[in-house]
Amino acid sequence: MNNKHFAKLLIDWYETNKRALPWRESSDPYRIWLSEVILQQTRVAQGLPYYEAFVSKYPKVEDLAAAPADEVMRTWQGLGYYSRARNLHACAQQVVDLYGGKFPETYEQLLQLKGIGSYTAAAIASFAFKEVVPVVDGNVYRVLARIFGIEADIADAKTKQIFESKAAELISQEHPDAFNQAIMEFGALHCTPHNPLCMTCPFQQACVAYRGGLQRALPVKSKKVKVRTRHFYYLIMKDEKERLLVKQRQAGDIWQGLYDFPLIESESPLDTEQLKAALKTTFGLDRVTTVEDVAGKTFKHILTHQRIYASFVSISLTQSDISKINQNPQIAHNEWVNEAKLEELPKPILIEKFLKIMI
Ligand code: SF4
Repeated sequence: MNNKHFAKLLIDWYETNKRALPWRESSDPYRIWLSEVILQQTRVAQGLPYYEAFVSKYPKVEDLAAAPADEVMRTWQGLGYYSRARNLHACAQQVVDLYGGKFPETYEQLLQLKGIGSYTAAAIASFAFKEVVPVVDGNVYRVLARIFGIEADIADAKTKQIFESKAAELISQEHPDAFNQAIMEFGALHCTPHNPLCMTCPFQQACVAYRGGLQRALPVKSKKVKVRTRHFYYLIMKDEKERLLVKQRQAGDIWQGLYDFPLIESESPLDTEQLKAALKTTFGLDRVTTVEDVAGKTFKHILTHQRIYASFVSISLTQSDISKINQNPQIAHNEWVNEAKLEELPKPILIEKFLKIMI
């Protein structure tokens, strides 16, 4: 099968089978960029309401650039991978500051923007500006590995180059936008990871994986992700005005910029006595008498590389404890907030789940 024939079969399949998605109706680079950033590592069904929320709250890139950081994080809340939200905001500001609110039109220029990697740059450049540059995401790896029998390990960063070259050979010169949309959609709907629809596949005859029964073996991915287990003991502390102590998470860990509660972290579960000892060493609170599990359960929260077990414990504070907390430089970035303010703050979904039960 020559390259032109491949592209034609793929685009024909796409025209018949594509899903009607709102960003596909648009050639506006701002909307395309929003949808691509939101959909990375997120299913369409989950990402769609977020896309709609962003478009309605921030119809233009200037609106997003001018929005307060906390509000952008709040709108993103629940999608995970919060560095993407921070980059989204920073990128919108760059587009306004450097390009007067108009996205640059080439792959190379787009690559210079905050948070835009080769995949997103290729998607915007081809969908919005019809530049002939291939997209390569997980779906594309799978489709190309199977049809052409590419056995390179996709966990190895160097492999990307092999797939990019193959996609660059195949991409339609006339319709790079449709080709790129089509190959990703084909991977998402037809040549799926576990149950590829080989019986109705337009590439069946040419497909190396189909002919060799290698659908499960391709693409090759060797590296196992190491999962880290963390036990969080969130401290529910109230002052005399019934305000809760919250803290903003800092750089260097998950959920940067979001708000949760001060916490004691451990690699293994802690009992009440161990918790009291940790309160003393971590926060200087040496006279805490009551430590109560307020939710009555442990929340399990799974991230790509982490498994978090979170408990929420209320601790009784004296006035002198509160002064100690307020003066403790280790507990910087803390704030006493009332219920209304707590509601407004951007928070990890784990904290939202807890608050839903408790408030
Ligand atoms: S024949 Fe099966 S494995 Fe090959 S491209 Fe089609 S769906 Fe994928």
